[in-house]
Parts: sequence; structure tokens; C-alpha cells
Amino acid sequence: SLSGKTAIITGSNSGIGLGVARELAKAGINVVLNSYTDTAEDHALAAEIAQETGVSARYIQADMSKGDECRRLIADAGGCDILVNNAGIQHVAPVEEFPAGKWDAIIAINLSSAFHTTAAAITGMREKGWGRIINIASAHGLTASPYKSAYVAAKHGIVGFTKTIGLETAQEPITCNAICPGYVLTPLVEAQIPDTMKEYDMSREDVIKNVMLERQPSKEFATTEQLGGTALYLCSDAAAQVTGTTISVDGGWTAL
Ligand code: NAD
Repeated sequence: SLSGKTAIITGSNSGIGLGVARELAKAGINVVLNSYTDTAEDHALAAEIAQETGVSARYIQADMSKGDECRRLIADAGGCDILVNNAGIQHVAPVEEFPAGKWDAIIAINLSSAFHTTAAAITGMREKGWGRIINIASAHGLTASPYKSAYVAAKHGIVGFTKTIGLETAQEPITCNAICPGYVLTPLVEAQIPDTMKEYDMSREDVIKNVMLERQPSKEFATTEQLGGTALYLCSDAAAQVTGTTISVDGGWTAL
């Protein structure tokens, strides 16, 4: 049973990370929420999850753009049974205008953070004889779109990292997989609508319909609850032989 296990979800005061935390908590898994912000609301979210589900829920501040803070998050939590590498940011611009600082931040938060947290968490998983590492990649880990060079590079990188850790733990009761969502209407997606409107000279409705859901044959956004459910499946015994691979939750995007 998953009840009583502990999950650390990076970048979980919003969007997909919060949705994953809620679904895991509903299954009796203790959760550690994280972001770099450390506001009263962040701590209140953890208290709310604890109250609604009866699990232990904590918030730990750590900046996933810094390797030592990624490792400190795992240490402060006292290790974990389930690690969900979810923190991520986006920036949309043609490569020749892409700010170098944004490139570095996206590679650090969306890719390198998973290296640091995994390196810090895996020994504890081995000692306990069980572990699940779940990386929230993207359809952009398998395909590309223009103007998202850093994001697509980081997401392809995390898919490669996932395969490697799957092999390094193949003969142990530890799995490492990536979930590849298509578009989910979270604050991250909201924030890129204005830039995409500018890049394509389109209205908001046209960006949603003709750019975002253009790529998503279902013509529907995936939901944070569905991604939480996928993470829960990867934690289950049914998924014990699922490792080093990707699961797309993208309404058919990568079938195109
Ligand atoms: P979001 O903006 O709602 O959430 C991002 C989370 O990351 C927030 O909790 C934020 O606090 C955290 N974060 C950002 N920078 C951080 C830092 N330096 N340190 C710690 N935490 C930090 O976005 P989301 O859509 O929920 O994205 C979550 C993940 O899902 C990202 O990796 C994103 O690339 C991926 N994803 C999202 C979509 C989508 O359509 N929304 C699709 C595919 C993949």
C-alpha cells in the first residue's frame, strides 16, 4: 500500500505540481510541497491538504534553480519514497532574441534540478528498498515547437535523463519515468498566451484554438487531476515494470 509513504513534489504551490500533490495525498501519501516563494499561502496550502486528506503535508522552501538548494530540499524533508520533479518555467522567443539568462534558468530549473534531487534522494530509496522517480517532462520532450528552444532542449534532456536513471535502477525496486503532458491550462500556459499572441499576431482565442489545441487532437486541455492520477499509477504495483520510459497525456498530440 502507498499509505504512509512520503512524496516530495518540486514546484507544487501551483498547477500540475499541486494537482499531483493533491492526488497523492488522497491516496494516503504524505506530501512535501515546494516552491521558491515561502509565502503564508504556501504553508496554508499544505495545511489545507493535510486537513482534507488526513496525511502529513509540509511546505519546504527551496530554489530549484540552484543545485545546492535542490539537494537541501531532499535533506530537509528527511528523504522520500516518491520524488516528483515538476518545477518548471517557460519562455517564448526566437532563438536570436532568446535572453541568455532565460536559457540558463530554464536549463537549471527544468532539467538540472532533477539531476540534483535524484542524486540526493536515490541512496535513501535504495536503503528502504523501494522508490519512484517521476519527472514531469512534456510533449515538448518528444517533439518541438518554434520559439521554445530552451524549453524543448530541457524537456528532451529530462527524457534522456529518465531513461538513464531507469537503467541505473533497473534491477532494484525503484523506477524512473517521465510523464509528457500536452497543454494543461495552468498559470504557466496562461503566461505564454500574450507572447504567443505577439509572435503569431493572433487573438487570445486563436492562440488557444489554432496554436495550442491545434497540436492537441482531442481539442481539450489535459487536467491537473489527470496528471495526478497518472503519477499515482506510476507509484502503483501495476507499474513496477514500467521504467525508463515516457507516458504521454496529450490528447493525441504525439500521435500526429
Ligand atoms: P505553474 O507555473 O503552474 O507551476 C510551476 C511550479 O514551479 C510552481 O509551483 C512554481 O512555484 C515552481 N517553480 C518555478 N520556479 C521555481 C524555482 N526556481 N524553484 C522552485 N519552484 C519553482 O506551471 P505548470 O504548468 O503546472 O508546470 C509544471 C510542470 O509541468 C513544468 O515542468 C512544466 O514544464 C510542465 N508542463 C506543463 C504543461 C502545461 O501545459 N501546463 C505541459 C507540459 C509540461
